[in-house]
Amino acid sequence: MHPDLEQLLVLQDRQQKIKQIQTEVETLPLQRKNLEEQLAGSVAGVEALKQKARQVEMGRKKLELDVGTRTETISRLKTQQYQTRKNDEFQAIGHEIERYENEIRKIEDDELELMVETDKVKADLGVEEKKSASVKESVARQTADLEAKSQTLQSRLEELTKERAEIAGKIDEDLLSRFEGLFKSKGDAVVVALEHEVCTGCHMKVTTQTAHRVKAGKEIVSCENCGRILYDVL
Ligand SMILES: [Zn+2]
Repeated sequence: MHPDLEQLLVLQDRQQKIKQIQTEVETLPLQRKNLEEQLAGSVAGVEALKQKARQVEMGRKKLELDVGTRTETISRLKTQQYQTRKNDEFQAIGHEIERYENEIRKIEDDELELMVETDKVKADLGVEEKKSASVKESVARQTADLEAKSQTLQSRLEELTKERAEIAGKIDEDLLSRFEGLFKSKGDAVVVALEHEVCTGCHMKVTTQTAHRVKAGKEIVSCENCGRILYDVL
């Protein structure tokens, strides 16, 4: 094999690896964002239930106050009733007391409903907090993994870039820029094997003359169909 071809194959290998790593590095911000969203969603879930618990509690306090004011009114009315000497007034006050007592019973029914609601929200909150704690733990672990991965990829990238530069330094400038141009346009393998006179880059048959030149190994030969650089598989 032409010595330049050997260098190009190594260069291509490093360059492909660099590209793979760069692609992987590009996915890291999205992965980080997903983790942040997971965490935020879980915190928001807990916060929503806490808010609901506060609302239910406020509703209960309001009902308690409502009962309190009616109880006071009833006791005031009872005093009035006790003091009156007029029969019709006595009865009128009695009806009013009854009306307030009925209201209190209704409010107490509502209070009972809210107590059931309180228990339910408390139970839900407990479940959600447990879930949130485990999400937090898992997100922290995954974030740490992601950071470690990011650093590994970064140092691997630096290594490969250095290796790539060393190899590139040994290659003829014109050939190197030909290779670079091809790599940019094809984005994958640009130094490819010729197998049974077929370019393994574009899967087309090359001319017999081209195949001979590749086999001779005295020069750098390109596929006439796709322009990729060909090497002979011995
Ligand atoms: Zn080709």
